Amino acid sequence: MLGTMHAWQAVSRGHDVVQVEREQQARGASVRNFGLVWVGGRAPGEELATARRARELWEEIGRQVGGIGFRANGSLTALRTPAEVAVAEEVVARPDAADRGLKFLTPDEVRAVNPALSGAMVAALHCERDAAVEPRVAQPALRQHLLATGRYTWLPGREVRTLLPHGVRDDHGDVHEADLVLLCTGAALGGLVREVAGEVPVRRVRLQMMQTDPLAERLTTSVADGDSFRYYPAYRGDALDALNRNQPQPAVAAEHKMQLLMVQRLDGSLTIGDTHEYDEPFTFDVDSAPYEHLVEVAESLLGRPLPPIRRRWAGVYAQHTDPAAVVHRDRIADNAWLVTGPGGRGMTCSPAIAERTATEAGL
Ligand SMILES: Cc1cc2nc3c(=O)[nH]c(=O)nc-3n(C[C@H](O)[C@H](O)[C@H](O)COP(=O)(O)OP(=O)(O)OC[C@H]3O[C@@H](n4cnc5c(N)ncnc54)[C@H](O)[C@@H]3O)c2cc1C
Repeated sequence: MLGTMHAWQAVSRGHDVVQVEREQQARGASVRNFGLVWVGGRAPGEELATARRARELWEEIGRQVGGIGFRANGSLTALRTPAEVAVAEEVVARPDAADRGLKFLTPDEVRAVNPALSGAMVAALHCERDAAVEPRVAQPALRQHLLATGRYTWLPGREVRTLLPHGVRDDHGDVHEADLVLLCTGAALGGLVREVAGEVPVRRVRLQMMQTDPLAERLTTSVADGDSFRYYPAYRGDALDALNRNQPQPAVAAEHKMQLLMVQRLDGSLTIGDTHEYDEPFTFDVDSAPYEHLVEVAESLLGRPLPPIRRRWAGVYAQHTDPAAVVHRDRIADNAWLVTGPGGRGMTCSPAIAERTATEAGL
């Protein structure tokens, strides 16, 4: 998505773009994610500003390319204990709550916003700025739009192997001439990236996900559980410290560093996750125990059994090792930049990250 959004920016500014992808179709983090455009939990400062700008751009792009499935559906973080309520209350009392679109909802208000949530909760944190897109189809839809401009070429099944003074050479030996090269290689940090940029300040994180069959009811918002507070910087503060101290996660959730996020796809199915694995080598299979936990939490929030699980998968994203950095954007040669490491906010922030690169590179 980062590569595609850079192509979008360059084409919009009147340039010709060749996008080279080593797989036949993209297989990376960008098709494995929730498709959450997640604004509410961002760190104050550059990260929140980037996410807010990206949210605007997603909406604008969504108007031009209906196929990405952009919807301003907002999110609800379900609060089930007094400690979780305290975190939400602390956050909505802060001056930047309005920038994040955050509001505290009583159970009746929750049911008015999202009637499908009939399970146990004492309140919810509503973020009306959060949105969603369809990760499995967004890239092909964007590409189709770019192809129609006549200024975009898509070259799948070719791995970029060598950076040249005026372009790149791929693994077929073909040279693609260009004034500017943008390497958006996701979590592929060896090979080409190591050769041209050495060791970069980026680590990899592996997550487990699943998708159900369609739910008979419409979920009007995305949904998170109170454990998600532990993973997003916006919620840091005394109340979160108290939550971490006094409300330990269930053993399986603590072991796999879990939160519940749940988004309804346009076909009615639910994408549900996730886990976080930080130490490599990563496991190559998916563990069952986290799925059992996610099913239990999702069912308790919905107040009904989940539809059968249709598929399970894992994905890996690249994350800058400095939590304050939104992305690793490095000019690695006169004619080339490396842009990677947006972390768990890469889908959200990609349009704004690409816009910033375009400005910095003088496009
Ligand atoms: C399970 C999961 C859930 C997530 N949920 C969310 C979410 O809901 N919201 C959010 O904001 N973020 C989310 N993220 C993070 C987000 O998905 C990533 O930050 C983002 O997709 C990264 O995009 P990318 O283009 O940098 O990487 P990728 O999507 O991995 O793309 C990199 C591409 O580069 C190609 N490539 C690599 N090397 C070469 C080469 N030498 N030549 C040619 N091609 C090459 C790869 O084949 C790949 O297609 C999630 C991530 C995961 C794994």
